[in-house]
Amino acid sequence: MNVADSQRVASALEKLGYEHTARPDEADVVVLNTCVVRQSAEDKAYGRLQSLKPMKAARPEMVINLMGCLVGVKDNPRLRQRLPFVDVFSAPSDPAPLIAHLMQKEGRQAELEETSARYALMDEELTLPARERGKLISAHVPVVLGCSHACTYCIIPYRRGVERSRPPQEILAEARALAAQGVREITLLGQIVDRYGKDEPSYPTLAGLLEQVSAVDGIERIRFLTSHPNWMNDELLDAVAGLPKVMPHIEVPIQAGSDRVLEAMKRGYTAEDYRRLIARIRARIPGVSIATDIIVGFPGESEDDFNQTYHLLEELKLDVAHLARYSPREGTVSARRMTDDVPESEKWRRFRLLEELQEGIAAEIHAAYLGQTVPVLFEAKVKQRWRGRTPTNKLVFVEAGRDLRGVTAAVKIHWTGPWSMIGELA
Ligand code: SAH
Repeated sequence: MNVADSQRVASALEKLGYEHTARPDEADVVVLNTCVVRQSAEDKAYGRLQSLKPMKAARPEMVINLMGCLVGVKDNPRLRQRLPFVDVFSAPSDPAPLIAHLMQKEGRQAELEETSARYALMDEELTLPARERGKLISAHVPVVLGCSHACTYCIIPYRRGVERSRPPQEILAEARALAAQGVREITLLGQIVDRYGKDEPSYPTLAGLLEQVSAVDGIERIRFLTSHPNWMNDELLDAVAGLPKVMPHIEVPIQAGSDRVLEAMKRGYTAEDYRRLIARIRARIPGVSIATDIIVGFPGESEDDFNQTYHLLEELKLDVAHLARYSPREGTVSARRMTDDVPESEKWRRFRLLEELQEGIAAEIHAAYLGQTVPVLFEAKVKQRWRGRTPTNKLVFVEAGRDLRGVTAAVKIHWTGPWSMIGELA
């Protein structure tokens, strides 16, 4: 989501005449786009801010824009007070305050009102930043902004605001613009992406949107994330199975395998519901790959609760598990009403146990690709190898003399590991 938001800012800045530099000490404008989903992300943001402070002191004309979830959607006077050297504060996905500030500074008052209103609505056509144009093969397109499902651990609804779906025409225009700039794969994004259109009766469902995006010439592959288990209906699964451009890959977090913990998280389903959902996804989408997210060490998570998560993961054999150690976030229900009582060392132990388990599962799933030939969409050259992905989102590396960027080619797999595979052009 933040990568997509940053692209939008870079695009807006280039339209104003700015260009990219890799060095903050020579930049006229520095945008720091932030995440606060865990304390470690927030610490990193403050660390970067501290490193910008002396640059701002040396060159006061440098404009610093703090953006994203550290700022949030509501005005935050405490944050402004704490960071007096920041010139502009802006909410996630919103380049408007920065553009307004720069236009005012440059005396371009006349253009200002109309332009900033357009950026605020996100309907300004997205031109990729120059350094990505023609090079970026896989792009992210936010389709649902914000989130209105209050999982007790999660800060996102507080910082990204209420759920709102973007109009389908806007999404399609963006997909067409990206395709014209060389993009071949699009990932539709939302905190609960399978709720797309639920807030606006005139919009299609996610299944309908996938069908519409499928009609965009030049876009060869479509993915979407992240899904909430409760909204994954058969219409959506059948759309994934039936639309050739939609890849057989589902990201659907479970978060915990214990019903007691799931209830405390207010996720709205049981472990058995999730088990049945996985069976339903596998029955409807042949060859599907499934990724999940898990939080270990949620308040009150006992050894027995954790073992249930462990055994469920062992049983389901999912392709990927994104693991996190519980991090209390200011203002959330779990931070206000529950005690962060699983010691850090124990969170780490549980994390490593799941990591090791998942490494074995992934290695086993990948080994089944040995000797197979799969269509790989290549994105970039890393050292001497081309890097691409299978429809199931597996990372594949290939040595090849010719330029493979943006090309989908058949690859015969001859080595597999838990995180990637190696093959040769078939
Ligand atoms: N909206 C998506 C993704 C949310 S953020 C969803 O709910 O599935 C990505 C992941 O970060 C979450 O799935 C969760 O596993 C993790 N996460 C969120 N809040 C967290 C917290 N307070 N501590 C640790 N991990 C957290």
